[in-house]
Amino acid sequence: MVRDDEIPSPEFPPRRVAGRGPGWYRGDCHVHSSRSVGGELTPAQLAVAARAAGLDFLAVTEHNTCDTHADWAQPAGDDLLVVLGQEVTTRAGHWLALGVPAGQVVEWRYGVRDDVIEGQLDQVHRAGGLCVAAHPQAPYPSGVFMYPYQEFDVVEVWNGQWRSDLPWNADNEAALAEWGRTLAFDIHRGRWRPAMGNSDTHLAGQLGVPHTVVFAEELSVDAVLAGIRAGRSWIAGSAEIQLSLAVSAGDRSAGVGERLATEDEPVMVRVDVSGAPGGTVSFHTDRGTTHRQSLPEAGAAAVTWHTRAAESLFVRVEVRHSDGHMAALTNPVILA
Ligand SMILES: [Zn+2]
Ligand SMILES: [Zn+2]
Repeated sequence: MVRDDEIPSPEFPPRRVAGRGPGWYRGDCHVHSSRSVGGELTPAQLAVAARAAGLDFLAVTEHNTCDTHADWAQPAGDDLLVVLGQEVTTRAGHWLALGVPAGQVVEWRYGVRDDVIEGQLDQVHRAGGLCVAAHPQAPYPSGVFMYPYQEFDVVEVWNGQWRSDLPWNADNEAALAEWGRTLAFDIHRGRWRPAMGNSDTHLAGQLGVPHTVVFAEELSVDAVLAGIRAGRSWIAGSAEIQLSLAVSAGDRSAGVGERLATEDEPVMVRVDVSGAPGGTVSFHTDRGTTHRQSLPEAGAAAVTWHTRAAESLFVRVEVRHSDGHMAALTNPVILA
């Protein structure tokens, strides 16, 4: 007989996928099953959809419940990491708690006048989790985000909003502009919040549109959350979009979310992109949009631009389709 206290505590689902080392991983961190109002897919169906959409991980974020956490033990696997989470729908905006302990619910019954938001964020942080301001410009009462971003780790500037046919819209444009408005000041002050994109899947066909591509030391909950927290990530409209952004000065280089400490030597910025034929690449710094270039009608393209730290505190990139809708956007690389 094995006594209860000698049985190792099971991890459901596993917090780490064996044999998956440093690399870029694709994941969707805002996903509802049929347990959420308006959701129609079971965890098993969502797992099939995640694999079909080219995702390496997903976060389960039901509205104010952890009921389905245990249901992910089976669908998770060597090719699909599952992050346990919750969408906390308060009276003054929604936020995602990612990486919460299995079976633990985050309180949601409050608004801005109750003075409890900091304590709730604190609790998630103490458990090693991440707090994401969700769809901050959602156009319905209680969906619009009324808290300051200050205590949040990440802003969901691109939310699929139940529309796989129109995953980019005016609400996302407003959220991106609001995030971008204070980015230079925040980077200068040493604490900036990365952007992320998630589908907010409720229905079939929505998963992964968009999703976040993260550099992680391994495919594990802790490593993926660390990559998102550090902004070593970019947002893809779908798995068809490939992108890499690198800056270099002499023999040194840095990628998205990293810093290239330069004196004032020339810096080359290079983005390689495919999957957005006929679209446009634009470069954005603390001086606004500084360079724009069209992409060819077919194949991959490399676009370069030159700057210096004195004129660009950071560089980030947007890739838009020919109709103006977003195809991909990156977090900044910092140059000073
Ligand atoms: Zn929501
Ligand atoms: Zn949601």
